Amino acid sequence: MGIREYAKQMIEKDQVFKDIADQKETIWINDKYLPFEMVDAVCQLVVSDGDIADAERRLHKFAPYIKKCFPETAESGGLIESPLKEISAMKKALEETYGAEIPGRLLLKMDSHLPIAGSVKARGGIYEVLKHAEDLALEAGLVTEGDSYERFADDDVREFFGQHTVQVGSTGNLGLSIGIMSAFLGFKVKVHMSADARQWKKDMLRSKGVEVIEYEDDYSKAVQEGRRQSDMDPTSYFVDDEYSVPLFLGYAVAAGRMKKQLDEMDITVDAGHPLILYVPCGVGGAPGGICYGFKRLYGDNVHVFFCEPTLFPSVLLGMASDRYNEVNVSDFGLTGMSAADGLACASPSGFVVRIDRNLLSGDFTVKDAILFDYMRMLKNTEDIFIEPSSCAAFTAPVNLLKYDNARAYLEKHELTAEKLANSTQVCWATGGRLVPDEIWDKYMNTYME
Ligand SMILES: *Cc1c(COP(=O)(O)O)cnc(C)c1O
Repeated sequence: MGIREYAKQMIEKDQVFKDIADQKETIWINDKYLPFEMVDAVCQLVVSDGDIADAERRLHKFAPYIKKCFPETAESGGLIESPLKEISAMKKALEETYGAEIPGRLLLKMDSHLPIAGSVKARGGIYEVLKHAEDLALEAGLVTEGDSYERFADDDVREFFGQHTVQVGSTGNLGLSIGIMSAFLGFKVKVHMSADARQWKKDMLRSKGVEVIEYEDDYSKAVQEGRRQSDMDPTSYFVDDEYSVPLFLGYAVAAGRMKKQLDEMDITVDAGHPLILYVPCGVGGAPGGICYGFKRLYGDNVHVFFCEPTLFPSVLLGMASDRYNEVNVSDFGLTGMSAADGLACASPSGFVVRIDRNLLSGDFTVKDAILFDYMRMLKNTEDIFIEPSSCAAFTAPVNLLKYDNARAYLEKHELTAEKLANSTQVCWATGGRLVPDEIWDKYMNTYME
């Protein structure tokens, strides 16, 4: 397939898009980034602080149930949360290996190790399933607002959910999160998996009684087909990664949670001490919700960058072209599979590219091969294992000061050397805990061109 006309024009006009078409690593700086106060009011109309607080409240209500069913959450009282860890040894290794200069502190937000689903999808995915379960149970009069939600573990409630289906399209991890939680609640579950999805993720789901439907096509097709099948069945609910607000809210909650952790670590975030976040990005749902939550809390003092594979910069292109979800990476001649299976989305979420259009600072692209190098480095320096997709975030601190346009961004926003020295950079680790040992061995020994 050739390059489409609109893409050709973008490629001719701007080196960044030429790099993208050439599958070279690059960074796109958001041309429509705005000071937070200019977008605050309009954003509140769509997703308000109250909506995010409501999601956090609901998660607290379900905490006793989660704690009862998943003992691994006992320590956090049934909240699904992950550590925030300083990774000084990794920082040093990145600087030495890549000749990078990484000012300030470098932290890892370890959603790779979230309980239950072992990926960032445990935030949005599990939240949306719980919300749906609550809606159904309240409507049926099985549960009342005043009840302890441990009630959701009772047999009659589980049997009731057995008359309902939950469906989702996934590159793997969303399917795991939705599948594990829905099956646990008693729902019938169908997961529509794209071609990039890993076999072990399909196997794990099937072992939990989830029906896995496989597609030869990319992620967008799996979503389309899942949505179609679900719409035909009145007892079926579709978790729509491309448009879901509950999913988005579950991710946005991460900001308030991490603020507590930063406070506990005595890390200041203000104009003189910026926070810079790097989040691996697929369809945009998880990073989009995280970005939104952080901007609402910290405004202009937080700078959020997404990181996408050179083969799948779908959110970057959706925003940069202003065609939103009406882009496909193949419009730029990008076809093929990615080793970053969790990020292999050819078209972005129409919701996220719109709501974050003026909030996101920029978007890095990263080659598959280097993900495995970052992965080994993190294992060797910090003894932490995260999956290759997750490692996309490390390209950002390595390259932030190397790209001319990134430096121009820093200058424009008065992120001086002094402020950067006081900054906190956070790489978001998005998946890994459930990866089986034999797959780890394979990853550790994967060397790509
Ligand atoms: C899903 C996923 C992401 C990105 O989330 P999107 O909502 O698809 O943008 C990042 N890393 C991993 C490991 C994932 O599974």
